[in-house]
Amino acid sequence: PNPSPVPDAYYQPAGKGNETLLVDKRANATFVILARNSDVSGTVRSVREIEDRFNKNYGYPYVFLNEEPFSEEFKSRVSVLSAAPMEFGHIPKDHWFQPDWIDEEKATKGRDQMVAENIIYGGSVSYRNMCRFNSGFFFRHPLMQKYRWYWRIEPDVHFHCNIEFDPFVYMEDHNKVYAFTITMYEYEKTIPTLWGHVRDFIKLHPEFVAKDNAMGFMSHDGGDKYNLCHFWSNFEVADMNFWRGPAYTAFFEYLDSKGGFYYERWGDAPVHSIAAAIFASKDQIQFFDEIGYEHNPYTHCPRTKEGWERGRCSCDQNKSFDYDGYSCMSKWDRFIAD
Ligand code: GDP
Ligand code: MN
Repeated sequence: PNPSPVPDAYYQPAGKGNETLLVDKRANATFVILARNSDVSGTVRSVREIEDRFNKNYGYPYVFLNEEPFSEEFKSRVSVLSAAPMEFGHIPKDHWFQPDWIDEEKATKGRDQMVAENIIYGGSVSYRNMCRFNSGFFFRHPLMQKYRWYWRIEPDVHFHCNIEFDPFVYMEDHNKVYAFTITMYEYEKTIPTLWGHVRDFIKLHPEFVAKDNAMGFMSHDGGDKYNLCHFWSNFEVADMNFWRGPAYTAFFEYLDSKGGFYYERWGDAPVHSIAAAIFASKDQIQFFDEIGYEHNPYTHCPRTKEGWERGRCSCDQNKSFDYDGYSCMSKWDRFIAD
């Protein structure tokens, strides 16, 4: 059972008219896809799937972002896939590259150590740029300014079920700020000092901590120790007003000033997740069981037989990551049930 399933009233069966009021409603929302020119084939596959499973009925726009100019090939191969508006944006230099005030000697040392310890992307500067950009900058891009809601998509992901409701409208109606499909443990070695900085920030700014927050999902001792659970941010549907607001703005600035995006390898997943867990109430975080989603190597497949049938899902329910030992989903279920 999912404590907050999307109610039937939100479903708009394909081929039927807009009989209910809800279907007329639209959100001020966009897809956002960060990609390199070399990601074109994977991007085409992801856009094709979200169009087929959802967006052919909704026509939400797309924003593609890249720190290099998109190639004509990229733009033409992607544009052909949908009549929905598509914009291709260039990321400003200071939103992407390692800032000058980062101590490069210290950053190099940090990377070398992670390479020695075989940590995934441990030696990569571009991966760190990407994580910092997704943490603090994508929602500030000029092409994103006109939107409130976004759905993050990556190249080469899969949407396994028909989505015949509008996740943005559901979230807006229910005062949600952040939605996920997969939750798991982070590699501690990529964020050794992150939680300490989070605790310091909370002490400095207790006014930002939300009532009935989801801290209890991430810490079992009232915030002393982090259990490493986070939402897998390659899928996100969220409210950019939350990232643009005073709490997250101060939080990101604080974390960024510590340099951990470069000295360590802080991911946007733990940064976004921790912020959602502290600055939003737990009711504002939505688990979309209905959305069958795969990012290699993990898949979330709807739990209920009804949800799986209704979505005509192509995933195997028995292989859903929800029940994997590395998943935090059982923790989330217990937390929400309490
Ligand atoms: P992983 O999911 O953590 O393994 O990381 P990915 O390689 O999938 O990268 C996450 C997202 O950032 C994907 O949408 C990539 O296309 C994008 N990305 C990663 N590195 C770069 C980069 O250097 N430039 C650009 N423009 N996009 C990147
Ligand atoms: Mn990825």
